[in-house]
Amino acid sequence: MEDLASKFLAKYKDNFLKKLKNTDNNSVISSLRNTSGNDQNFINQVIQLKNEHCYIYYNNDHLQSLILETLNLALIYDNIDKEVSKQSENKKADEIDHEEILIKELLRYFKDDFFKWTNQPDCSSCGKNDNQQFLRGERPNTEEFNRDSKCGHVEVYKCNSCGAITRFPRYNSPAVLLETRQGRCGEWAALFTYILVSFQIRTRYIWNKEDHVWCEYFNTKEKRWIHLDSCEKAYDEPHIYARNWNKKMSYVIGFSDTGIADLSKKYVDNVNKGNMINRSSMRNDEEMYKLVTALNNDIRSSYPPDLHFSLHQEDEKEYLNLNYPNGSPTKTHDFDTKGRQSGSAEWVSSRGEGGN
Ligand SMILES: [Zn+2]
Repeated sequence: MEDLASKFLAKYKDNFLKKLKNTDNNSVISSLRNTSGNDQNFINQVIQLKNEHCYIYYNNDHLQSLILETLNLALIYDNIDKEVSKQSENKKADEIDHEEILIKELLRYFKDDFFKWTNQPDCSSCGKNDNQQFLRGERPNTEEFNRDSKCGHVEVYKCNSCGAITRFPRYNSPAVLLETRQGRCGEWAALFTYILVSFQIRTRYIWNKEDHVWCEYFNTKEKRWIHLDSCEKAYDEPHIYARNWNKKMSYVIGFSDTGIADLSKKYVDNVNKGNMINRSSMRNDEEMYKLVTALNNDIRSSYPPDLHFSLHQEDEKEYLNLNYPNGSPTKTHDFDTKGRQSGSAEWVSSRGEGGN
């Protein structure tokens, strides 16, 4: 019986790799672009996110050493040691999840000691924050653009206490964010994701089409992707958006050096179907699946066949778990109802994310 199963798997793998070899990825993507009901702008946006988040920040020695030199590693490892000793009191050595302890400490360090949430920037002249009036958004100036070519937008504020003008460039580059150490969810996720990558953690950057970003890491002990939101210090709480914040969402997509994944069901449908925004950017689920598959083949084109195949199997397993959540054992959560923790109460309630 086992023999039959392994023969079947070998055959399946052969077919998969043969099909892959005979597929022209560029023509698949161009036919997706030309299919009526598929939104070209959406496809281009996903491809742009792939180019930004699936290659350049991985195996990047310069960025990695910059990050590790900037963080207070002594403090981080000291706290990890303390937690390991604490857990050793009632757990066997092999029951302790060192990866989970590291991630939780990084979440704590990042929010409590390193990065700052910014509703509006401190006044560049008097330093006050409570009298800043938003004037306009504009393109970055030369200096800002030279600092980070991915900075596309600058918010301009006027201080009503002293009259000074303060610019708040919305930087994206992790290296620049290591210096500025402030922002909203975009800046938080952009840096925190690549901090984890620098610690050699398998990580993906998670993008929601409406307006939020966060990340996930692959826990090697549990063999699953775990939700993380650095703004919230949230660990494995995929329900916080569609349930606690009452956030309405359509697409949620994960990007990493090993591939991309459509995670819309994980964060919306399987949590609170009532908060699903109609997914009309692609003609139907099948077209979305084709897009994800084509982009994965592209990302993995230089991977050894065995690795490509095992990532494909991983995708299939995740796809089944997300699409048939009742068909497989899933972790049941006691849903708490706390609302959004990052941002001022006023800002949170203006977005309707204050929880129940
Ligand atoms: Zn001022």
